[in-house]
Amino acid sequence: MKKIERGDYHVEVWPRIYQLGGCLTEAEEKAECERIVDEIRRHVAGKGVVEVKWTTTLLCEHCSSHWTEPSDAYNGGCCDEDEKNNPEANR
Ligand SMILES: [Zn+2]
Repeated sequence: MKKIERGDYHVEVWPRIYQLGGCLTEAEEKAECERIVDEIRRHVAGKGVVEVKWTTTLLCEHCSSHWTEPSDAYNGGCCDEDEKNNPEANR
């Protein structure tokens, strides 16, 4: 029979910007998260590590398709602009 163990309890804090639809720039989002971290470090008892975390998504700079290729320059031809970096076509 399956046994479920729970552990590593921690608190995640999502800034209000996500509740509002997130219309801030990346720099503004980062600054807001850093401000919240500073507030928690100053005012909250019982905290351990408090840090800003983020996700990273690789996209084509031209068409915003997900980046799927190992190359940093060519994404397999996701759009006309990307195709200009096709190493096979430019020989
Ligand atoms: Zn593209």
